[in-house]
Amino acid sequence: MALIVHKYGGTSMGSTERIRNVARRVAKWHKAGHQMVVVPSAMSGETNRLLALAKEVAPEKPGKAYGRELDMLASTGEQASSALLAIALQAEGLDAVSYAGWQVPIKTNDAYTKARIESIDDARVRADLDAGKVVIITGFQGIDDGGNITTLGRGGSDTSAVAVAAALKANECLIYTDVDGVYTTDPRVVPEARRLERVSFEEMLEMASMGSKVLQIRSVEFAGKYKVPLRVLSSFTPWDIDLNEEATSGTLITFEEDADMERAVVSGIAFNRDEAKVSVLGVPDKPGIAYQILGAVAEANIEVDVIIQNLSKDGKTDFSFTVHRNDFQKTVDLLKGKVVPALGAADVVGDSRICKVSIVGIGMRSHVGVASRMFKCLSDEGINIQMISTSEIKTSVVIDEKYMELAVRALHREFDLDQTADTIAR
Ligand code: ADP
Ligand code: ASP
Ligand code: MG
Repeated sequence: MALIVHKYGGTSMGSTERIRNVARRVAKWHKAGHQMVVVPSAMSGETNRLLALAKEVAPEKPGKAYGRELDMLASTGEQASSALLAIALQAEGLDAVSYAGWQVPIKTNDAYTKARIESIDDARVRADLDAGKVVIITGFQGIDDGGNITTLGRGGSDTSAVAVAAALKANECLIYTDVDGVYTTDPRVVPEARRLERVSFEEMLEMASMGSKVLQIRSVEFAGKYKVPLRVLSSFTPWDIDLNEEATSGTLITFEEDADMERAVVSGIAFNRDEAKVSVLGVPDKPGIAYQILGAVAEANIEVDVIIQNLSKDGKTDFSFTVHRNDFQKTVDLLKGKVVPALGAADVVGDSRICKVSIVGIGMRSHVGVASRMFKCLSDEGINIQMISTSEIKTSVVIDEKYMELAVRALHREFDLDQTADTIAR
């Protein structure tokens, strides 16, 4: 008997028929003798619908009050889908109970709309499991010290599931989604993408942080920190397929690097069109400018990603960085308001029509010239690189958004990732 956590994404929970299928699948696992905890997302489209309603009522205002209400609102999506799943499981003859985050409780900080999990009390869930119940815990949400409902950022149900698995020391956390595993790149953009049998934790971390939304980055961080065995697999296989076949399908996130993985220089390509570029022009080139610009941005709780400072000319330089698109206007306003006058800079300009494309692979550690091969490939396609950032196992470039698909496809081909008749999934 094992303790297993299943997570079902929005599409997998997308209709009452699909919810019934999820219940049948979970019942199959329970009948095989496993203790089951299930973490569902809201039904597909529901979170977007709820958040759009808020914006329709009134645009966002600075401060915490609006964010608190967004979380109060958006968390209802998972509460509904969890109750529906419990009802469906009861109809399958199982003893099932659903809990909202606060009932567990899943404690988070109070960073509304992007809260971080701080602790999970496992007592109630354990007692239910020991009594033979299937326990359903809402994804995406928790509660802060003040008793306010919080949410964990878009895609946050992955993190709920892995954190619950870590707290319960589950034997495995299975992330059921609308694709049958982790691919070399998003299979909806590149049909030639190949499913990976295994992907190393480090690569998955980079791919998630570079924009592969198949797993939320924090879920991968949790899996790494607490060594949670993690698998991504399809919720669209027939619910009654052989359990062992299902349990070994999809993609396993591994903690050991094996010989096979070393062979691929680049394992995957991630892309992200959620960022925008901000440039502060004509900044006096003297010590402390990076701090004055980025310090002010950080104080406003805005995360900065790629940063470049150009060579100075006549004592002046340009300083550019990227932020999330949602924070773009706020960043420009902030810099124009205070920072530019204080620095004596010439102006602030921005471009939200950019994207970031990244190649990821642990093989990059042992191979030289991978980045230049990437740059040549992009230059052969006539794509101009605006910014570059690297780490040990990834190289990212910021380019014009309109070339994103072209770049991803060209790089996928360049690094031999395309599926061909004679390639089999690793
Ligand atoms: P869920 O609702 O199940 O959480 P998401 O939409 O959040 O599903 O994540 C699954 C989607 O992630 C896929 O439909 C696919 O389009 C996208 N995706 C992006 N990169 C990858 C990748 N490398 N491998 C698989 N899917 C990817
Ligand atoms: N429902 C939330 C979202 O749409 C969380 C999730 O699906 O993981 O972002
Ligand atoms: Mg998701």
